Amino acid sequence: MRIPLHQTYRAFRELDGFSDEQCEQWVRRVKAQFAIRHLVIATVVAGVTFSVAGAIGVGSQIPLEMLDVFEAGSSPEFAYHIFSLLIFPPGAAGLSWLIVRDRLLIRAIRNRVLLVRCPRCRYSLLGLRHEDGFVLCPECGTRHELAALGLSPADLIGPRDAA
Ligand SMILES: [Zn+2]
Repeated sequence: MRIPLHQTYRAFRELDGFSDEQCEQWVRRVKAQFAIRHLVIATVVAGVTFSVAGAIGVGSQIPLEMLDVFEAGSSPEFAYHIFSLLIFPPGAAGLSWLIVRDRLLIRAIRNRVLLVRCPRCRYSLLGLRHEDGFVLCPECGTRHELAALGLSPADLIGPRDAA
């Protein structure tokens, strides 16, 4: 896992008290559910970024001078052209891909944390035990069917077992 996403789940107080292993497993599920959508969106954004960065790179060139520069070899201008044409566009695209994918995953984690709540009193249902697909809200005493909330038992993570 890359550094920007390292223990992102620690930003959510609802996930306090769960072990890293529990959180990572839970995040992996969220990630897998949105993998294709996130991949498509990140790739589209990266494609647009590549086009824009490529246009900036090409736009910053002077065609006639470019010919001279490429003949000249290793001048500072040559390095500039290599950067603006061959390094800047793919670099910007790759960076945007990573940033977009990370932002989408963080949003998906936040949405899932918000989803796993009692619809009546908003108490977080994370860490609660379920019985036959039902969970009892300890705050207001309402018994909820997980399926009716669009949840599965794994969405509750399970009992907190971190120190
Ligand atoms: Zn409740």
